[in-house]
Parts: sequence; structure tokens; C-alpha cells
Amino acid sequence: MRVLLVEDEPDLGTAIKWALKQEKYVVDWAQDGTEAWEYLQNYSTQYTVAIFDWLLPGILGIDLCKRLRQQQNTLPVLILTAKDRLQDKIAGLDAGADDYLIKPFEMEELMARLRSLQRRSPVWQTQQLQIGSILLNHTDRTVYQQQSDGNLVPIVLTNKEFQLLEYFMRHPQQIVTKDQLLARIWEMDAEVSSNVVAAQMRLLRRKLAETSCPDLIETLPSMGYRINLKYAN
Ligand code: CA
Repeated sequence: MRVLLVEDEPDLGTAIKWALKQEKYVVDWAQDGTEAWEYLQNYSTQYTVAIFDWLLPGILGIDLCKRLRQQQNTLPVLILTAKDRLQDKIAGLDAGADDYLIKPFEMEELMARLRSLQRRSPVWQTQQLQIGSILLNHTDRTVYQQQSDGNLVPIVLTNKEFQLLEYFMRHPQQIVTKDQLLARIWEMDAEVSSNVVAAQMRLLRRKLAETSCPDLIETLPSMGYRINLKYAN
């Protein structure tokens, strides 16, 4: 899952980004409203949820929200602000924000609000996925292999491996190229090449190779990767 974080305070932005990454989100962090608007114009369909600080250089968080809604974009938006007067809250909600969190806040609270917002996204609603004998639990970020006797054996994945597997399991019919994975699973400002994607895919498949679905993700030569159709029904 990809989050757009727009926060101009470096310390707070760093702390939120770190917390989001612990929850295995892919995070694009913009530090002013203009940069955020560029991200939204180019990649808005890739975000599951966005966090806008209210007071930002360039374009205010509330105005980013208004602009999105003017484009009929329904991306769930949570606004962060130190403002706590009732009329500000109403203005935020009128601008089309879905939720509102007042600074200072507990990181746990922000994560809980985001989980609730992302459940509105049809692709990300389901918290438990199963393909073949592989089970992925989005809520606690765990992956298991179900054995024939019903026992669950954990599969330990790194953040990137988890994000890749989750992406495939949520889009089981899709053929995905390395460049598409790069755009969807890596941060926009990450300086990586499609070789890095291939390397991460090898690591993930090495772990899957030890399960009863060793060929869960297949390579379609000169096209990309896809969940093996024999498991995808
Ligand atoms: Ca600010």
C-alpha cells in the first residue's frame, strides 16, 4: 500500500514516515503543497490513502483536498492540524477530508485512523488473503503456509518481500512488469533500477520455493510476473 504524506515539519515527517514504514506502507513524503500536487497529478491512482498537514508552504493541505475533490478524486484524505477550533474542523470536512487529527497525536492513533480509511478502498478492504496454501494477513503483516494437516507455518518476509507478495495476491489476474513494480512498491524518490526489483523478486520466490506453492508467482517471458493461474482460481 502506498501513502502520500505531506508534512513540512522535518522531525514530525521523519517520525510519521518511520512509523508508516514499520507498518509496511510504501511512503512518498512531500514537504510542501506544490510538490504534493505534482505527486497527486502523476500518481494519484497508486495511493491508498493520503495524509495532508493543514499548514504547508505552497498549497495548503485543505486546498490540496479541495483540488482533488474538484477532480472527482475520492482518495481518502486525513488532515493533520494544530487547529482545534470547531469551525476549522468543519472547514476541513467541507473541503472533502475524510478524517481529521489534531496535533500532537499518538502515532498509534494515526495508524488506526489510516487502517479505517484504507478499508474504504475496494482493493485493500480484505484483510486476509489466501492463494493456494499461502495466507497473508494484512492486519498483523504476517504470511503463513497452511499445511495439509491445517497447521500454519510462518513465512518470514522482509518489508519489500511482503509488499511484493501482497501486491500480487491483491491483483491475482494481472501481469505486472518490473517497471510497474518499481513504480508501485518503491518510493517515488528511490534511486533503484529494475535490477533491484528482479533481485527482490528472486529473494521472495526463494522463500516461496520452500512452500507447497513453490511457483506461486510465475515469470511470463518478456512480459512480467503474475500469480500462477493454477493457484489463482
Ligand atoms: Ca505545517
